[in-house]
Amino acid sequence: MTQPVFRFAPSPNGPLHLGHALSALLNRDMAEEMGGRFLLRIEDIDTERSRPEFEASILDDLSWLGLRWERPVRRQSEHFREYVEALETLKARGLVYPCTCTRGEIRAAIDGKSGWPNDPDGTPIYPGTCRPPPGAMFVDREPAWRLNMTKAIEETGPLAWTEIRADGSTETIMADPAAWGDVVLARRDTPTSYHLSVTLDDALQGVTHVVRGQDLYAATAVHRVLQTLLRLPEPIYHHHRLILGADGRKLSKSAGSEALHVLRSDAARVADIRRLVGL
Ligand code: GLU
Repeated sequence: MTQPVFRFAPSPNGPLHLGHALSALLNRDMAEEMGGRFLLRIEDIDTERSRPEFEASILDDLSWLGLRWERPVRRQSEHFREYVEALETLKARGLVYPCTCTRGEIRAAIDGKSGWPNDPDGTPIYPGTCRPPPGAMFVDREPAWRLNMTKAIEETGPLAWTEIRADGSTETIMADPAAWGDVVLARRDTPTSYHLSVTLDDALQGVTHVVRGQDLYAATAVHRVLQTLLRLPEPIYHHHRLILGADGRKLSKSAGSEALHVLRSDAARVADIRRLVGL
């Protein structure tokens, strides 16, 4: 059997909080239990929101938690070329199309259409304005690139993934990529997207086990489509419970008292963090 490979993949656009601690520690614990490797990946494709000081504080918090990872650390902003190449292959196969719609135009296109569906993240499904054959309107602006989901699903057929449950048993989950509509694979301001770069990197780094929060459960359907279209290997998934704040909502990057650096300055020890996240 090949050696399992786990990864923790934070975005350096804010300090780490207890939710990240759970994710990072679970990855490390599972890697240790299974004799696997543990990688760290910095997901900094959003060059506007990513900051070197956040990356530095992430590394510092993770070392403090006792984590050790292989070097060099993959930083996504250093690999835009690889994402562009993958997008080119999808372009050549007619699976993506350029989209010049602004958010305002998308809103206007669905305005007044009651019951318009949202994707699993709560964003209205793209109404298909630019989907080929494109309308007569030509706009002189840099396009985003969207996956033609209907065409993609025709190529892939039905997809599933293997989910490890909290009790360690596994379950086959049917993927529902259609629920996302024509997702953006390359943004206007960045030559890639979360979905494209995460899928490619997990494959390029040989990740066998993707352990991440429940908030990314539905996104796995898009990742399975991309893995199949790009003939990439399929990892096993474990989507863990989320840590909720005092208000009952998922922690955000601005999480004050749940930020690891705040807890550390209040003299918390690693054992306290493990207890707080239920490990
Ligand atoms: N970079 C993503 C985040 O910080 C996580 C990506 C993933 O684990 O698939 O939310």
